[in-house]
Amino acid sequence: MTSTREHTPTDAPLGLLAASEEYWESEALPVLSEYVRIPCLSPEFDAGWRERGEIARAAELLADWARARRIEGLEVEVVTAGDLTPVILCEAPATPGAADRAPTLLYGHLDKQPPLGAWRSGLGAFEPVREGDHLFGRGTADDGYSIFAALGAIETLERTGLDHGRCVVIIEASEESGSPHLGPYLEALAGRFGPAGPGLVACLDSGATTYDRLWFTTSLRGLVTATIGVRVLTEGIHSGTGGGVVPDSFRLLRALLSRIEDERTGEVLLSSCASDVPRLRRAEAEALVSELGEAVLEGIPSVPGLLRAGGKSLVDQLLARAWTASLAVVGIDGAPAVVDAGNVLRPYTTAKTAMRIPPGADSAEVAAELVATLTADPPEGAAVEVGDVVPANGFSAPDLAPWLARAGEEASLSYFGAPSRSLGEGGTIPFLSELSSSYPEAQFLVTGVLGPESNAHGPNEMLHVPTAKRLTASVAHILSKLL
Ligand SMILES: [Zn+2]
Repeated sequence: MTSTREHTPTDAPLGLLAASEEYWESEALPVLSEYVRIPCLSPEFDAGWRERGEIARAAELLADWARARRIEGLEVEVVTAGDLTPVILCEAPATPGAADRAPTLLYGHLDKQPPLGAWRSGLGAFEPVREGDHLFGRGTADDGYSIFAALGAIETLERTGLDHGRCVVIIEASEESGSPHLGPYLEALAGRFGPAGPGLVACLDSGATTYDRLWFTTSLRGLVTATIGVRVLTEGIHSGTGGGVVPDSFRLLRALLSRIEDERTGEVLLSSCASDVPRLRRAEAEALVSELGEAVLEGIPSVPGLLRAGGKSLVDQLLARAWTASLAVVGIDGAPAVVDAGNVLRPYTTAKTAMRIPPGADSAEVAAELVATLTADPPEGAAVEVGDVVPANGFSAPDLAPWLARAGEEASLSYFGAPSRSLGEGGTIPFLSELSSSYPEAQFLVTGVLGPESNAHGPNEMLHVPTAKRLTASVAHILSKLL
């Protein structure tokens, strides 16, 4: 992408930003705040989601709001297939001047992560709090804002008298569980696009390295989650009786984890996770670090003195996050809280692990290798059980078509005041790999508001409101330029 100011005559119209700012304050933020109050946890975190009805409640709130949009001919429905989580489907016909343009698919999700951790005083996961530029609350940035940005882009285009092609918006409700419910809905959607598929897929659930420009996500890692259980006793016993005779289940779990990860370096040892960083992506990371320096990894709350990525350079940290596998133990069962712990040899330890895998790795192959490696030859005859294995593929974006690169650059310069940039992200959006293989001709605008301190999945999640406004105007401008 070029980044010259000589483009001024073709810059994106500032009326879109003014319309977006007004729209966010009067139309979007009040309802986004209401949505924060709904504990619509993703199915993985709420086995009783169906009976509790919070996902349905959130879908109805957002769909009712969508039905009131000032978008000519907009159709809104909440669709539920079988016993899956629902999706909100919105379809806006092309404006009269743009009937021959390729259609766009815009994607976001409404399910949430649990509160996870202690929120700072005055904040709470399900309590919307506006402080200046920030709206705090679970699901604000990940990814409640997305339906407001998607429909806001279309509405601001129509308010300012600009054209757009046909747009289909899908807001799903199982993303935070790895999108296990999305497949059937995507298959049903295919009919709306025909064999050529959408001309543009706008995925509004990604990261923004900084808030001062428009970011394109060029790759995403995949994810394989699993639970690994090690059982040594049928019930707990005095550690003075059992210690030295019965192996500790945590030690055996630790030994098992060392089969898949080097415990000194964090390197993942599975052969299905090997990856090479493409030359272009290394150059992209090097250019970013030389331009933005430490800002490329701002907002990670490391303790003082921590050696991140084993003390690697900033470029290598960026590339490690985007292109290499990494393992995290995200939950442990079988152990009481420290304050309640007695001198007991516990019967079992179960860990939930989340392994990010390189963009090109085949997640089903990784899952199979993971299970085979962990279950072969159980250490000291313990009962080892690996379950709940959920694989999701990563994504590597096709090169940006010149029209999209130009439109993104114009939007970034006009609405943010700085040239757009691109970067691989470390997170996972499972459906992108599926869509890019189904629709090899489609262009991808993968972007989002998950920037510094937005803290998706952690405590104190917040939406940087000015970024939501600028991003909405940017999506609108890009839609107006779609060929
Ligand atoms: Zn998300």
